[in-house]
Amino acid sequence: MTTTPAVLSPPAAVCSFIPDYVLRNIAERGGDEERRAALQALATSGTMRSLRVQAEARRSVLPRSAMPELTIALAPPTKERLVRDAKNTMDLRGPIVRAEAGTPSEDKTAEAAFERLGTTWDFFFQVFARNSIDKAGMPIEGVVHYRRNFDNAFWNGTQMVFGDGSGRLFTRLAHSLTVCAHELSHGVVQYDGPLVYQGQSGALNESMADVLGVLVEQWSLGQTVEQADWLVGREILAPGVSGRALRSLAEPGTAYDDDVLGKDPQPGHMDQYVDTDEDNGGVHINSGIPNRAFTLVATRLGGNAWEDAGRIWYASLGHERLLPSAMFRQFARITRYVASTLFGTDSRQVSAVEEAWSGVGVEL
Ligand SMILES: [Zn+2]
Repeated sequence: MTTTPAVLSPPAAVCSFIPDYVLRNIAERGGDEERRAALQALATSGTMRSLRVQAEARRSVLPRSAMPELTIALAPPTKERLVRDAKNTMDLRGPIVRAEAGTPSEDKTAEAAFERLGTTWDFFFQVFARNSIDKAGMPIEGVVHYRRNFDNAFWNGTQMVFGDGSGRLFTRLAHSLTVCAHELSHGVVQYDGPLVYQGQSGALNESMADVLGVLVEQWSLGQTVEQADWLVGREILAPGVSGRALRSLAEPGTAYDDDVLGKDPQPGHMDQYVDTDEDNGGVHINSGIPNRAFTLVATRLGGNAWEDAGRIWYASLGHERLLPSAMFRQFARITRYVASTLFGTDSRQVSAVEEAWSGVGVEL
């Protein structure tokens, strides 16, 4: 009898919040301290990348009987969070400083991560009836105070990890809801897609994390599409940095323009698509295109973005036709198909989806 070899997930980069190209700008243009912090963050990206590949390899060899979707009916949904303190080291198994059944921590950053990851869990459960990252009640694990002056946050395949920032360019990343929700959403994409973290599929991976990240915030604040500012990472820019946030979904390329950080390089249309080997083929850059497509759909439909537009995007992410290597065009076609299934072929939702993709230059 022959056995089928386990299929390993393709190597994936760690999903860092601050892209390497921003860190490189800082390393080139910043002062000594900024340069040191940026180089440290760049070096960490490489280490975490290899750890994440190991974690994905372990997960991919689980027997089918242990896969999450088979256990959904057995466990009633309960939120289970824990926050570890790396104590300014790289130790991702540091002491647990806040747990679901425990008392509030005196550490404001641990408490911030705990609350914001909880809001994100609530969003996925209440809006999409999703039981945690893996749909099977997986504990939500955050790590705070990672390294010293660490100007980044990332999802490593199993945990959300937050630096405190250097305070000169970025500040306490766990205190931003869109950052926390973005990182947790990478976990959702990993279990639903998984979209390969390279080129256009990687940009779709980044874009889904951005879209879900802003939807969590809009939902928690009860904002309509007109009230929302569509910014990701508004709270993390240090005082004196010239910018509004790290990314703008509605107006890609306008989030910051700073002497040290450089200028926001995101395009909002295929005419400005950036062909590059950097940043895993521009995953944090070209994500501006599907990001803007989403805001066009949501704005056209009005009301709350997490309702019709969010439902279309979320169902498309989990759709069986979505390939891990999907290009923008394939994803766009799936959103149109999902919209017609949910709302009817002649619905305003289908028209909104078609106009949005046309508006960013993606042909259906
Ligand atoms: Zn990301």
